[in-house]
Parts: sequence; structure tokens; C-alpha cells
Amino acid sequence: MGKYTSNILQIYNTLSGKKEVFKPISEGAIGMYVCGPTVYSNVHLGNVRTFMSFDMIFRYFKHLDYKVRYVRNITDAGHLENDADQGEDRIAKKARLEQIEPMEVVQRYTVDFHTILNTFNFLPPSIEPTATGHIVEQIEIIKSILDKGFAYEANGSIYFDVLKYNEAHHYGILSGRNIEDLIHNTRGLDGQSDKKNPQDFALWKKAEPQHIMRWPSPWSNGFPGWHLECTAMSTKYLGENFDIHGGGMDLKFPHHECEIAQAKAWHNHSPVNYWMHANMLTLNGQKMAKSTGNNILPAEILSGKNDKLTKGFSPSVVRFFMMQAHYRSILDFSNEALLASEKGFLKLMEAVTSLSKIEATEVVNDFDIIKWKSNCYAAMNDDFNTPILIAELFSAVKYINQIKDNKASINNSSLAVLTETMQQFVFDILGLKTAVSNDQNHKLGETIELLIKMRNEARALKDFALSDKIRDELIGIGIQLKDGKDGTTFLLD
Ligand code: AMP
Ligand code: ZN
Repeated sequence: MGKYTSNILQIYNTLSGKKEVFKPISEGAIGMYVCGPTVYSNVHLGNVRTFMSFDMIFRYFKHLDYKVRYVRNITDAGHLENDADQGEDRIAKKARLEQIEPMEVVQRYTVDFHTILNTFNFLPPSIEPTATGHIVEQIEIIKSILDKGFAYEANGSIYFDVLKYNEAHHYGILSGRNIEDLIHNTRGLDGQSDKKNPQDFALWKKAEPQHIMRWPSPWSNGFPGWHLECTAMSTKYLGENFDIHGGGMDLKFPHHECEIAQAKAWHNHSPVNYWMHANMLTLNGQKMAKSTGNNILPAEILSGKNDKLTKGFSPSVVRFFMMQAHYRSILDFSNEALLASEKGFLKLMEAVTSLSKIEATEVVNDFDIIKWKSNCYAAMNDDFNTPILIAELFSAVKYINQIKDNKASINNSSLAVLTETMQQFVFDILGLKTAVSNDQNHKLGETIELLIKMRNEARALKDFALSDKIRDELIGIGIQLKDGKDGTTFLLD
């Protein structure tokens, strides 16, 4: 029996606009699709936040013993510069500007994306499919939508007929829009377009002569529309109806709305049971974005090389900062907020180190560990409420510090529960990292402890040149020693 049987999860579903009890299609198994990055430039911290929210969700599902198939794609074709299906393909544009092949652009930024996610301790998804690897599937879907009468051909391009679809279904069901508002708010056609109506969107675009990324199809040499790849890849790996589809809030409309329309036009039923949207990371109150330049890159936050930063921050501090906000709340980035998170993170890690040194006494506990553990689960079961979870972790920190100061005590069985639960929530679920988070790192921990001992011996012999050398060289490789009244602890960057 998995832990999921005793944990009733409430998930906010954008489709219904409320929290719902989560029931997967197959007991004990979850299919989850998250829209991946468009690999035409370095990911910024805003992108990292959205992917981190879903990494935390994936981690919690796994912790509850669900068998999860997590699909996160790589968008390596088909994104035009604007939503009206006009402008240049972003990848092709970058290739033209840098005078390299589009696939070189894709390779460079896919590698960058993976490096960044590794740095921030992400778990890899189960499948990471690419849009260009699924052109055949996309063409087959278009054929079927054409057959059903929900799309039309114009000059070698295929457009989805939104008005026709809306007669049979509801276009706007996810974003809460209705077709009248959409008609009212969409700019008219500029005379260049082959579309019947401005709301229609491209399923296939005929390539202009200068367009490099192109594939043969029954209609033209061209490329698929923006929204189609996710319908093709999610259906292929998770089925026509699956549990969870996620992405950033800004993808709700038009991207996800169009995914629903494509799927329903194709196979006539709702593709996704729970739509989850992660909120934005802002900078100076404005959304971080590639296009406006209002963003911070992961490399900048790690090195501190950015005007907005007074210093660099370790990946786990950035992760802790993001986990301190609920995934559906806007989070504003600032140097001050990061400094405050760093303090909190260090305090948490020191308590984890202290916990490993605490000895139990056969006395009554001063803290209800069982109730505390159930509060931690309750926080996560309530739509992944990581800020409440962190507040719970800090009540444990307070207790640990009291035990350390001999102001409280703990018995054997409670110490075992406290240690295991702290490890699970801090490292496995929040994904934070220190030296003693797993077996392999345990050896590293012991090695550093040995160096600390040697440093203490050097100090006792008044060989300060050696003791300082040990400390400084450890800093050089990202290991900080902290001297406190109970001895020396260490932190890893
Ligand atoms: P893109 O590569 O532009 O498709 O973005 C990849 C993911 O990052 C999408 O899920 C976006 O919704 C998300 N995203 C983009 N900007 C931000 C931001 N400022 N804060 C949080 N997520 C973002
Ligand atoms: Zn998508």
C-alpha cells in the first residue's frame, strides 16, 4: 500500500476554478504533462520557477508512492514571434542572427537548460520528447481535425476554425472567456492573412522560401503551429485522457485553451482532468521575460554578477526562496528577499546538522512529533502549500535548538521520526541540498568532519597558517565552515 492511500490531496484545478480532491484515472498511477522551454535562448529565473514548482509536485507524488509518468517536452520548432501566427520562427531567427544551423541553436540551449536544472537539483522527467521528433504525429492529427470539419486549408496552410468548434464545444472553457468577448477583443485581419477569422489559429503553416525549418506534408512544405506539438506529445505518451497538465500561468490562454480545442475536435473528449498553472516570478513588479530583458539569468544569481545583486547565492538558497512562496502566488525577486531566504536556509541547515548529533534520552517529549508530522503532510496535501510546510519545519527547528541547549528533550522513537521526516521534507520533497542528504554525500560529510578535526588540532597547536588554509581552501571549493558555541558545522554551496 502506498502512502497515497492515507493522504487525500486537494489540487487547484484551473478548469473548475477551485480546489478538488485528486483522483487519478488509474489507482496509484499519475500521468503528468508540463510544457517545456522553447530552446532559442538561455532560460531565465522565471522559467526556472515554473519548472521548479512542477519538480516539487513531481517529488511529492513520488514521495506518496505514486507511479508517475512525467512528460516535459522541448519546444525546438514552430514558435512564431507573435500569437497571431505571424513573424519569424524564434529559433530560425536566432540561427540567422548567429549564422549557425537552427539545430545548433536547439542543441546549445537544450544543453544549457539541462545544466541549469541539474544545478538547481531537479529530478529528470520520465520522458522529454521534442516537437521536431513528432512532426508525423502532428500531421496525422491535422488530417483528422480536417476530416471532422473543424479546420480548413488556405494557400497551403491549415487553420483551426474556432467559430465552427464553438458551435459544438466551448472555446474559452479554461480561461473563462466567451467567444463574443474574444471576437470583440481580437484585432481584425490585416489583409495578409489567409485566416477566415482572426480568432482562428494555425495547425500548419506553409513555409516562406527563406524559412529553414520545414517538413513535407500533404498541404505544403511547412511547419506545425505553436499549440499542436503538446497535443501530439501528451496524447502519444499519456493517452487521450490523462491526469494533469501543467505550465506557467501565461500559457493558459491561448496555448492551453487551443490544446483543449484541438483534442476535443480530434477525439471528442476532454484531454486533461486537472489543469495546473504556476504563477510568475516578477522583477520590479513586472513579469520576468526573455523578450523585455526584465530578467535575471541563473548564472548571474549564482555569481552575483548583476547590478541588482550584492552577492551570489547558492542554488539551494534560490530554491528555498522559491519554495517559501505558494506556487500559485506571484513572487517578486529582490536582493533583500534573497538575503532573508539565505538566513532562513542556513538556520534550517544548521538545525539539520544539529539533529544528526542529538542524543535521545528516555524521557517524555516536549513536542508532539506525530502531530507535527501530520501537519507537514496536511500542508502539502492542501494544494502543495510549501510556505506552510516551511513554517512547520521551523517549529521543528525551534525544538531542535532547544534540545541542543538542554532546554528540551526527546526520546528514541521520536528522534527517529523527527530525523526521517526532516530528511524527507527538506531533501526529497523540497529538493534542498546539503552534505548529509544522502548516502553518497554522507561520505563527503565524514570527510569534511575529518578536515574540521584536523583544523581544530592545528588551532590547538597554534598553527593558524594551517587552520586558515584548511578553511580557505574549503571555501574555494564551495564548502563553508561555521564556528559556533557547540563546535564547527559546514554548509555546501
Ligand atoms: P517559454 O520557453 O517562454 O515557453 O517558457 C517556459 C516556461 O516558463 C513556461 O511554462 C512559461 O509559462 C514559464 N515562464 C515564463 N516566464 C515566467 C516568469 N516570469 N515566471 C514564471 N514562469 C515563467
Ligand atoms: Zn505546451
